[in-house]
Amino acid sequence: MKALEEKILKEGKVLPGNVLKVGSFLNQQMDSDFIMEIGNEIARLFSGEKITKVLTVESSGIALAVAAGIALHVPSVFAKKHKSANMSKEVYTAAVYSYTHKETYEIAVAKEYLGKDDVVLIVDDFLANGNAVRGLMKIVEEAGARLCGCAIAIEKGFQGAGDELRAQGIRIESLAIVESMTDESVTFRA
Ligand code: 5GP
Repeated sequence: MKALEEKILKEGKVLPGNVLKVGSFLNQQMDSDFIMEIGNEIARLFSGEKITKVLTVESSGIALAVAAGIALHVPSVFAKKHKSANMSKEVYTAAVYSYTHKETYEIAVAKEYLGKDDVVLIVDDFLANGNAVRGLMKIVEEAGARLCGCAIAIEKGFQGAGDELRAQGIRIESLAIVESMTDESVTFRA
């Protein structure tokens, strides 16, 4: 998505530890029209699927999941993050190591919001080492739902998880794939 690459080049900042900051339009301040453009693009890419739920993890995936859900006319569900194990039988859970916070937390989705008849599209803002997506995939599997793929705004291709998941046969659609980044430049996969 050319417009996303341009926005990253114009407004993104590379922080130490290979973190790309996009707080001006995606992560803290949200560019409403642009978020909706991303949602529409995700819906276009997955228009051949009979998606029933969009699934993400709080908090930075929510805006994109809602935009995709609006464009697809389906509900969006977000997994909640907890610091410690939540033993409730009413939730599906998965352990996720956070790339940005350097800690493991548990994500949980109430069973009433995801079930075996659902066709799920996972949406997130970033794909780095793939831990968030893999945790969400585990929840989809536990629910007995069908995963039709993952839509990611920004994949950091140099961290490899996107290609690993593709090699496993999972459909990963990233709207921008960063191949490399330094303080001065961000390069995208052609
Ligand atoms: P992963 O689990 O794939 O390693 O990392 C994905 C999660 O970490 C995303 O949900 C995102 O919130 C966060 N993340 C990973 N890399 C970056 C980054 O470079 N910039 C920002 N803003 N978030 C990131």
